[in-house]
Amino acid sequence: MSLQELYRGVILDHYRNPRRRGKLTADHIHTEGKNPSCGDEFALDVIIENGVVTDSAIQGQGCSISQASGSMMADAIIGKTLDEVQDLAHTFKVMMTIEEGENPIDPDRPGAVLGDLEALQGVRKFPVRIKCADLPWTTLADALEQATT
Ligand code: ZN
Repeated sequence: MSLQELYRGVILDHYRNPRRRGKLTADHIHTEGKNPSCGDEFALDVIIENGVVTDSAIQGQGCSISQASGSMMADAIIGKTLDEVQDLAHTFKVMMTIEEGENPIDPDRPGAVLGDLEALQGVRKFPVRIKCADLPWTTLADALEQATT
């Protein structure tokens, strides 16, 4: 199996079996976003306690890239401090950026470990689809902003 096939399998698995799909009932931050160019919709529920993400849930509909990205993200942020989540978001952004100039963070830091998210790196070859992959991360950025203000 090629790496490309492996990555496609990971994306489809998250699309068909999204992790953390649903809504949170306990007090949480809710953010949502849309990607009109593809018709993707995504919403994030997240609980942050003492600076750590303790729970997340996702809602939405759209293409496999947007929904898989959200599923992977919702799983990846659990148990991370806000700094680690920022590192994760930055590391993802660097992976998805074609232009040079974005500096990766120290790969030994916990937030630098992308895990399943690495499967999305092939998307950067398709600039239109990068917006799909980015959509969940814009809702996360909004949530982090709400958490820190
Ligand atoms: Zn899309």
